This record gives sequence, structure tokens and C-alpha cells, in this order.
Amino acid sequence: MTEVKKSVFSTGAAGRQKVKTELDQKKNKGFAPIRFRLKPGEEGEVILLDSYKFPEMNEYFSVWEHAIMQPNQKFPIFETCIKDTDNCPMCQSQGDSYNLMVLTVLDLRPYTDKEGNEVKFSKKLLAIKSSSQDEMLKWMEDAYKEYGTTRGLKFKMRRPDDNKSAGTGKPVALNMKTVVEIISEETLLRQYGNDEIRSKDKTILYKAKNENIQTLKYYELFAPKTFTELRATYGNIGGKQEQSYSNDKEDDYGMEMGEDTSAIPDDGIDLG
Ligand SMILES: [Zn+2]
Repeated sequence: MTEVKKSVFSTGAAGRQKVKTELDQKKNKGFAPIRFRLKPGEEGEVILLDSYKFPEMNEYFSVWEHAIMQPNQKFPIFETCIKDTDNCPMCQSQGDSYNLMVLTVLDLRPYTDKEGNEVKFSKKLLAIKSSSQDEMLKWMEDAYKEYGTTRGLKFKMRRPDDNKSAGTGKPVALNMKTVVEIISEETLLRQYGNDEIRSKDKTILYKAKNENIQTLKYYELFAPKTFTELRATYGNIGGKQEQSYSNDKEDDYGMEMGEDTSAIPDDGIDLG
């Protein structure tokens, strides 16, 4: 009888542990934030939560990313490219990665949630592609020079009426009179802060106090998989990353990262 060395099945206590590990990993990953994007021709007000200083740009965070289209899926899977530290299996099988400068904003466009309640704002990841990064940084620097901070800057993002334009749009003045407004820390707390949210038995923390007005945890969100993991998943894929994605067509997909809503409890949590 041939000895079976590897199996697709999990058996016994070790097998059970594998499942538990997977569940733990999912729990730790938490919510994948929704990425800010506009429809062609749309505009929307945002409040920036990152506090940059110029010229140091102490909080600047950028990352290389792949958007991997799966057959029959509407949304791509986002994976952090590891080309700066290792051979990236995705660069070989999926094509070039693109660079993102990553920020956090409060999106002030109201929306209606599943229960029919109007939600006044939502915290989103603002992922700026290389073609718009200089403009975004210049905008932030000008505001910094005027206000001494970038945190609390309220301005508008507008997307040209053009399918090929960047899905995030670009910063524009709030109105004829005002380029930006500055929202003070007190106002941020009062208008957009939140109480701590825990599960009914109090053991699970869904949302920390005032998490609404904290920047997203970029290092955790974009933590790369290892070379071995990536090679196992993408090393031998025959398909290619959608060619137009990383270049001029930009992100004309829903930009929700992974869209894993399985961790959202049913007992009315405000993701504001
Ligand atoms: Zn790569």
C-alpha cells in the first residue's frame, strides 16, 4: 500500500487546530475598510484624518499592490506586492503592481444602510494612485502651511465625467469662497466620535472608543503574505491581472477590500 504523505483532508486534533487558526486569523484581520471612490462626474466632501507635517511627511505611507481579477468575480482581490523585499510571485504571474499612497478620510456622503437608516458619514481608506499623488500631497502641503495641520481638513473630491479617470477623484475647493475648512479636534470628537461597542457578553470588542476618528491601521491592513503563501496561491496561475487595471483605466471596480462582511454581528452595529 502506498503511503499517503499529504492529504487535502484534516483529521484529528491537529486538523481541528487548523480550522481554529484560520478562524483566529479572520478575527484578527477584522473589517476590511471600504475604499473611497466616486462615480464618474460625482463629487463628495471628506475630512482627512491623517496628520502630516511638511516637509518631513512623518505619517506618509505607501505600498505596492496587485489587484487580481478572479474568473466570474466582479471585484478584484487586493494583495500587497513584496517586490521590495523578495521575489514577488504575483509580479511574475499577474503583471506589474501599482503604487498607492494611503490615507484615511471621513466620507460625508450620507447613505442608507440595510435596515433603512440614514448613515451620515463613513470612515474610508483613500488610496491614491501614483498619477495623482503629487497633486494630493501639494494640496495637503498648502493646507498645512495655512493651518499648521492636515488632520481635520475638510475639502471636496471630484471625479471628471470620464470612465477612465481615477476612481478616487481629485481634491478641489469646497466652494467659491473656501478652499478647505479645518475641523477642530473638539468638533471631530463631538460630531464623529463614538462610544465603545462590544458584543452582548462584552468579550469581543467590535469598535474602540472614538475609532471613527482614528486613522486606519495601514501596517495591519496591508501586511503582506509570505513568499511561500503567495507562491502557493499565485505562483502557477495561468491567468493575468486585468491588463488595464494598473495603468490608465484605474479602478473602475468596487474597491471594497475583500468585502468580507461575515464578521459583522447582527445586533445593529454602526460602522459609521
Ligand atoms: Zn508584485
